[in-house]
Amino acid sequence: MSVALAAKPKLKPLAVNRKKTHDLVIIGGGPAGLTAALYALRAGLDTVLVEKMVVGGLASTTFLVENYPGFPEGIAGPTLVRHLEEQVTKLGLQISWSEVKNLKHKNSSFTLQADDRQLTARAVIIAAGTEIAKLGIPGEEEFRGKGVSYCATCDGPFYKDKSILVIGGGNAAVEEALYLTRYAGKVTIVHRRDQLRADKIIADRAKSHPKIYFHWHSVLERISGGRTVQLAVIKDLQTGKTLNVPVDGIFIYVGNKPNSAPYRSLVKLDEHDFILTNDRLETTTPGLFAAGDIRSKQLRQIVTAAADGAIAADSARRFLEQA
Ligand code: NAP
Repeated sequence: MSVALAAKPKLKPLAVNRKKTHDLVIIGGGPAGLTAALYALRAGLDTVLVEKMVVGGLASTTFLVENYPGFPEGIAGPTLVRHLEEQVTKLGLQISWSEVKNLKHKNSSFTLQADDRQLTARAVIIAAGTEIAKLGIPGEEEFRGKGVSYCATCDGPFYKDKSILVIGGGNAAVEEALYLTRYAGKVTIVHRRDQLRADKIIADRAKSHPKIYFHWHSVLERISGGRTVQLAVIKDLQTGKTLNVPVDGIFIYVGNKPNSAPYRSLVKLDEHDFILTNDRLETTTPGLFAAGDIRSKQLRQIVTAAADGAIAADSARRFLEQA
């Protein structure tokens, strides 16, 4: 149950020279990593970007980005990503399609183990983003892809006139609930509090939408069904009562966890495992920078990821010039 995300750009990225010590390796191909690549390449740095799946990160699965400056009608996430990818590919970006397993620092040089290959670099930007958080409730894993989804853009069209639940009260949950009204007959948001975390403009839009309903101060406890999802058990946290709700699909948006595990020994983390940096996006290891959603910060948006990428690349350039 998924549709193609960002179309590939016409130009191919350059093959990576694995024997060479590169100026800069950027880990992660979301908006932070791609923007870091843009600034690094324009500064003439020999730059390799390592990406495990597809470029674009979570932005690729956002149907319409309404708050990226310069696009008064909004821009489709995959389109924004495609433009960015084309921009860096034109500048000669080398991409290594692999997953970083660990990163070591010795004698002013970084060694990355990425799947079966090793890369070395004088500076590294970690822009590895976050992964989708799970609820960890009975039925969630069993019905994944059979009615349980984490991507409305991918799976929404399968729910024409159906009844679906959206779990969470943040920007992602509310935006995607609004998107799902294009297809579903009824969308019910289940939120553990009685106030949405989402920005007021979209929260108000959801509250006044004729197809959107709410279960406030409630949590999803269990999912059951046959071949696909049929029933959700929802618990009201105020009364303690549970409710059996017949549903066709459940979309879960309860936040994200940082992909910071491979870098723990070289950086300081906050209490939620996001990487701590200073204003120049330096970590505690010289030559190692962090950018985008993986960083400990207040506002995680595409525009702040892009800004982080630019700052981290500029800091990396300054570091390399002084090293
Ligand atoms: P988020 O802002 O962290 O919201 C997560 C939501 O899930 C919260 O409402 C939270 O409830 C709820 N939640 C967390 N754990 C839960 C659990 N175990 N059971 C039930 N509910 C749970 O995450 P997000 O919406 O995925 O967004 C992630 C980041 O991307 C945010 O910084 C967001 O602003 C950004 N984003 C921005 C846009 C945009 O501006 N266009 C779109 C999407 C995402 P509480 O409210 O009670 O904590």
